[in-house]
Amino acid sequence: MAHMVIVGGGVAGGTAAKALRDEGFDDRITLVAGEPHPPYQRPPLSKGYLAGSEGTDAVYLRPADWYADRGIRLLTGLSATSIDPSAHAIELEDGTRLDYDAVLLATGATPRMIPLEGHDLPGVVTLRRLEDSDDLADRLRDGGRRLVVIGGGWIGMEVAATARGFGNEVAIIERDAVPLAAALGPEMGEVFGALHREHGVDLRTSAGIERIVGDHAAEGVLVDGELLPADLVLVGVGAAPNTALAEAAGLDILNGVLTDSALRTSAPDVFAAGDVANPYHPVIQRHLRSEHWANALKSGKVVARSMLGQPASFDEIPYFYTDQYDLSMELSGYAPLMADAEIVVRGDVATREFIAFWTDDGRVVAGMNVNAGNVNKKVQALIRSGERIDRDRLRDPGTPLESLLS
Ligand SMILES: Cc1cc2nc3c(=O)[nH]c(=O)nc-3n(C[C@H](O)[C@H](O)[C@H](O)COP(=O)(O)OP(=O)(O)OC[C@H]3O[C@@H](n4cnc5c(N)ncnc54)[C@H](O)[C@@H]3O)c2cc1C
Repeated sequence: MAHMVIVGGGVAGGTAAKALRDEGFDDRITLVAGEPHPPYQRPPLSKGYLAGSEGTDAVYLRPADWYADRGIRLLTGLSATSIDPSAHAIELEDGTRLDYDAVLLATGATPRMIPLEGHDLPGVVTLRRLEDSDDLADRLRDGGRRLVVIGGGWIGMEVAATARGFGNEVAIIERDAVPLAAALGPEMGEVFGALHREHGVDLRTSAGIERIVGDHAAEGVLVDGELLPADLVLVGVGAAPNTALAEAAGLDILNGVLTDSALRTSAPDVFAAGDVANPYHPVIQRHLRSEHWANALKSGKVVARSMLGQPASFDEIPYFYTDQYDLSMELSGYAPLMADAEIVVRGDVATREFIAFWTDDGRVVAGMNVNAGNVNKKVQALIRSGERIDRDRLRDPGTPLESLLS
């Protein structure tokens, strides 16, 4: 009997298990989930679940009994400790050995901790797991606390918005001149900066963080000589792909587990998907690692086909969304091509209802719709076409997006 083994119970691993069954694979599937939960998704952990408006049903991909009903062996709270690609076997922390025909590494990423004095004090936290979100909610939901967020990235800004919603005092400390500049560039990053300032966040940019202060727990953060008092410090300075298993097995690693466009790693019958994978993208012809929900979902589907020996190519346009206060945003596009691109705006940035297009020599390489309705598919079509688009027509809200393509 063939045996497919999946390591990691996030969106990539959970989706791959379902996709294997959807593709008609009816032999053995084992999903090894290191956390004590059935596979789950993380976006609600900084938004609706943290805010208390959503429960675990919005977090778990499927109820636990779904896996048993489909004949998928789900091992929760158990980590894989090694892979032996030549023996086609993995070992689990309880000593169990699983022989596989194909194995998927969907081990995700772990938040980075900032190497600052005081980082190990109680009250200095990161957010990745369900329990982290529960813990944050316990500390923030009654309001009246002082939260200092280190890092003006997506997770820090989402938690800041949710914490403000509970009536807490929030400061965000960002090293760059503009939050989210690394993801969006300064012009569009500032849209989010202004949004947070309007909602009463003390946003400190170009800030030099010196240390986290406290005797037995975090009491504040010293920034450019000023002490910002804190009951809680959230560190949101990015995440590192969980490559330890792959590295120990001798797989090729570079900013994640390197794969080809079919999500095959350098070892036979070992595959990778989701945050941990750094796949070759056939359209932009370079490796592109993405830490987004849709990337995990779609790569989870594609990798299932690849594991079954079917033709498969992961050529998605990266997609990301965020919700902060009353702002909803979707971003599609190729991050590596955005840095030198020209931004063309359709709509009104001041009222936060617009689409920003990143163009390179007239070709749209990325598009971000902010409170601009359901246009993401059309934006993706423009990107996918690779056609040169007239800048004035792109900018003109009276010209339907679909009419821009020849
Ligand atoms: C708070 C938060 C909010 C987010 N919001 C958004 C958003 O709004 N939009 C968006 O696009 N993206 C968002 N993301 C990013 C998105 O959640 C990730 O891209 C996605 O979780 C990646 O899924 P994954 O399956 O690759 O990895 P993960 O979700 O990290 O799952 C990997 C799992 O593998 C487990 N594991 C690791 N090693 C082992 C091992 N050796 N054995 C067994 N199990 C192991 C891990 O414990 C983990 O449970 C958010 C992330 C966070 C943390």
